[in-house]
Amino acid sequence: MVLVRDGLALDVADASAGRFSCDVVATLARWDQFRTWERSAPWSGAAPVSADDLGPPVPAPRQVFAVALNYRPHADEAGFEPPEQPLVFTKFPSCITGPRAQVRLPAGRVDWEVEVVAVIGQGGRDIPREVAWDAVAGITAGQDISERVLQVAGTPSQFSLGKSHAGFGPIGPVAVSPDEFPDRDDIGFECRLGQQTVQSGRTADMIFGIDHLVAWLSTVCELLPGDLVFTGTPAGVGNRRNPPVFLKHGDVLMSTVELVGGIEQRFTH
Ligand code: ZN
Repeated sequence: MVLVRDGLALDVADASAGRFSCDVVATLARWDQFRTWERSAPWSGAAPVSADDLGPPVPAPRQVFAVALNYRPHADEAGFEPPEQPLVFTKFPSCITGPRAQVRLPAGRVDWEVEVVAVIGQGGRDIPREVAWDAVAGITAGQDISERVLQVAGTPSQFSLGKSHAGFGPIGPVAVSPDEFPDRDDIGFECRLGQQTVQSGRTADMIFGIDHLVAWLSTVCELLPGDLVFTGTPAGVGNRRNPPVFLKHGDVLMSTVELVGGIEQRFTH
């Protein structure tokens, strides 16, 4: 686990002389203590770092929640009424990868969904909405890559397998503490396919904001340190374009969240 600031990475286990582990989930479980330590951490041992060097901010989350139809224009383009309560599915955790990845295209129709992803810190159950932001240790960029044929196969359809192929859950390049954003409820993000901007959004336009989602999920599941919440995608996905566009061999997808930076996937046969 490293802290990243101004292009430098600080190894947490080294700099804390072992007080905090290299295991990000173990450190997230002690997030308040970590934040107190981090304010006076010695940065003398820091080394230059780029996104190419980094893995996913949480390599092995135990639970990955994802939210469907959380932006009205995307619900409209998909042909659905906006939901009355959050629509939740999972991306099975083995799909999580880092900020630079090659993704092999499975059979079917593979599509993009840029999303802001919340990383849970200490977690808990029945977290009140008024303090739900305190349960979020970081904000990162994510792609909810989706194979549309399997996603809607069967009646009723089930989303989760079509969104869980190898490499379908890239996140990174870093997780930024929510207090670093000028307004943590209004975070800008976008997605480019090659040179073309295909999606752009602001989290202020969510139907259910991040605090609402965290509170809601915690009424059912205990939120655990390092859990991820993919918070929904804005309009502009490939299968709702006219004509539809799907990812193909050689495509490069770049998804960017303000302050966080970008994640890039290269797609191959
Ligand atoms: Zn999604």
